Amino acid sequence: MEIGDTRESIVIVGGGICGLATALALHRKGIRSVVLERSNRLPATGVAIIVHLNGWRALDQLGVASLLRQTSFPILSGQLISLGSGEIEDMDVGKEELRVLKRTDLVSVLADNLPPNTVRFGCEVHSVKLNPRTSSPVLQLQDGTILNPKVVIGCDGVNSIVSNVMGIKASNIFRICVIRGFTRYPDGHEFGSEFTLTRKDDTQVGRLPMTESLVYWFMTRKHSSQDSAASKDQKLIRELGVKSVEGFPTSIIEMFKNCELDSIHLTEYVRYHAPWDIVRKPSRAGTVSLAGDAMHTMGPFLAQGGSAALEDAVVLARCLAQKTRVDLRGRGTKLMVEEALDQYVKERKTRVLRLSLQTYLIGKMFHTSSQFVKLICIVLLAVLFSESHGHTRYDCGSL
Ligand SMILES: Cc1cc2nc3c(=O)[nH]c(=O)nc-3n(C[C@H](O)[C@H](O)[C@H](O)COP(=O)(O)OP(=O)(O)OC[C@H]3O[C@@H](n4cnc5c(N)ncnc54)[C@H](O)[C@@H]3O)c2cc1C
Repeated sequence: MEIGDTRESIVIVGGGICGLATALALHRKGIRSVVLERSNRLPATGVAIIVHLNGWRALDQLGVASLLRQTSFPILSGQLISLGSGEIEDMDVGKEELRVLKRTDLVSVLADNLPPNTVRFGCEVHSVKLNPRTSSPVLQLQDGTILNPKVVIGCDGVNSIVSNVMGIKASNIFRICVIRGFTRYPDGHEFGSEFTLTRKDDTQVGRLPMTESLVYWFMTRKHSSQDSAASKDQKLIRELGVKSVEGFPTSIIEMFKNCELDSIHLTEYVRYHAPWDIVRKPSRAGTVSLAGDAMHTMGPFLAQGGSAALEDAVVLARCLAQKTRVDLRGRGTKLMVEEALDQYVKERKTRVLRLSLQTYLIGKMFHTSSQFVKLICIVLLAVLFSESHGHTRYDCGSL
């Protein structure tokens, strides 16, 4: 790791969706940054990501949407099937762009559009502190290297090291298990371009076609004691998945049995930042700020964490470019950077507060055993989020 080239610039910690998108957004505005990623290659855990209209708007601004659209067709309709009651309802999808992206495609396209050497792999950040005299950031890497960049953006996910500077922790847990994977149908599947969500008791299975022969699916249910034992073994995860969908239609059971084994992934417990912490706690300290899951991890119930991270990238780059006019080397820029970060945080907090509150209420409603709490959640959702898909129409604006 060369220290010289990070002394003057912006260091982004974490090369996941958010870190790469932030570096790309800055690059589009002519601002150089360096991404420090602890893995030795592009990380792409989590199989796939559902991207609604708001995410596509951000990808458009990043200049990569048209490339990514080629990898997956749009979902045009949706059905909610309740196996217990036999009810089938139309779901409100298809009016706006909705597609599923392979995470590998998303991170590769973001990374491929960055200038060479932007991402430094194998660079784990051990700690971030503010110099007590200058309040400038001081980064220590795992190998002992010390860096003194002008600006640090923590895109290091749910267990963020950078967020320690602000005292933020995603310490809350939804006790749910999510299993996800791809199933390939060599002769083509028969699901068209329809998203189906099938529910039975506490278990629900989502199925989203991506191409004529590839389907992304996910299953959520309450956490069970077998989940921890299975979580690292893909054969065991598949067995557990097949067991979890007993009593579901044959097409769903077959989809689980025939999944691509190396794609299958189990998330046991879902961590999140409480909505009130997102408002209450600072997301900037000096010239250190946060984006993506490091700032606002939320449950997966709205499929919005990744898209919110893409929005963060666009807004952050816009604010920094507007205020600092690129020159991070000049005199007096520290104050301007702080103002830019404050503007970014203010804009994003309003947005992510609503997303995380809606997600929190949905999560609580499904997973509480108290009928009273369930009722409160239903009432609050009806009052505060009467248009349940309104969040997908959000526009983060131009870069
Ligand atoms: C079950 C589940 C399903 C989901 N489905 C969807 C969906 O359909 N649509 C959607 O929009 N969102 C979805 N999400 C949310 C989405 O996955 C996250 O919001 C998104 O991945 C956040 O991206 P990120 O870059 O902020 O964090 P991450 O993807 O966690 O990336 C953080 C990066 O930082 C690196 N890193 C961490 N610590 C350090 C360190 N100390 N030094 C250097 N590097 C470090 C990591 O290696 C990693 O590469 C889902 C989440 C879950 C749990």
